[in-house]
Amino acid sequence: MTTRHVTRIAPAVPTSDGAGVRLNRALGTAVIGAVDPFLMLDEFHSDNASDYIAGFPAHPHRGFETVTIMLDGSMEHRDSAGNRGLLGPGSVQWMTAGRGIIHSEMPRQENGLMRGFQLWVNLPATHKMAEPRYQDLPGDAIPTVNHGDGEVRVIAGSLGDTSGPVAEIVTRPILFDIRLDGDGEMTLPLPEAHNAFVYVYEGTATVGGHDVDRGHLAVLDHGATLHLGATGTSTRVLLAAGAPIGEPIARYGPFVMNTQAEIMQAIRDYQTGSFA
Ligand code: MN
Repeated sequence: MTTRHVTRIAPAVPTSDGAGVRLNRALGTAVIGAVDPFLMLDEFHSDNASDYIAGFPAHPHRGFETVTIMLDGSMEHRDSAGNRGLLGPGSVQWMTAGRGIIHSEMPRQENGLMRGFQLWVNLPATHKMAEPRYQDLPGDAIPTVNHGDGEVRVIAGSLGDTSGPVAEIVTRPILFDIRLDGDGEMTLPLPEAHNAFVYVYEGTATVGGHDVDRGHLAVLDHGATLHLGATGTSTRVLLAAGAPIGEPIARYGPFVMNTQAEIMQAIRDYQTGSFA
C-alpha cells in the first residue's frame, strides 16, 4: 500500500473578505491556487469582535459549494429563498450553491471567540447548475471516532465503520477534523486517487514524516494511507480529500464556472435578479 507524502507546504496569508472580516487564507492564494476539487480554505480565529463583526452581508454564489466549519462562536445564515439557519459551535454547513443563491453569513455574537473555516469545493460541469441544497449539521450530528492515539470528527466520508453525515456530494469528499495529543500518531486510509491536503490549526504535526507548523497547509501526493503525528501538547488538523474534477476553471469572485461565457451569464443572471 502506498503511503502519502507532502509535495508542497505554504503558510496561510492574512487577508480580509466580506465587509471586512479578518481571515487567514490557506488555499486559493498566489502560492497554492487550488487542490482540485478544492478552491479555497479560509481560517477565521479571533476573540476581537472588530475582526469579525462586519460579517458577510448578502452576496451571490454559483457553480460550486461552500462548507462552513464552526469551531467556536455562532453565525447566522440567511438566503434569498427564505432559508435561515444558526451555525453554532461544532456545527458544519455544506451548501451546494449550484445554479445560484444569494445569502448572508453574519456573526450572532458581539464579543467572544469566533473560530472556524470556510472551504470552497468545486462542482463539475454536469452539476454547476444543480438546484441549491443545504446540509446543516449541528455539532452533535457529527460523529467522533477514537483512532490511533487521537480523535477524528468524521464530517464527510468514512473511517472504519463510521460515516460522516454529509451525503451525496459529487466529488466524494473526505473531511476530517483531527486531534492528536502528546506524541500521538495515527494512520488514516484514503481513496488512493483523491487529491488531498492537511491544514494544521493547532500545534505542529508530522504529515507523512514531514513537520508542518500551525497555520500551514500541506498538499499531499496520491496514496492509500496517510501517517499523522503530533510533536507537541495539542495538535489539531483539518484533512480534506476529494476526487479531482479535471475541468477548466473560469472564476470571477463568487462565481466558479468552466468558461468566461458562463461567467458573463452568471453576472447577467445576478444583475437581472434571476438568482433564487
Ligand atoms: Mn458565502
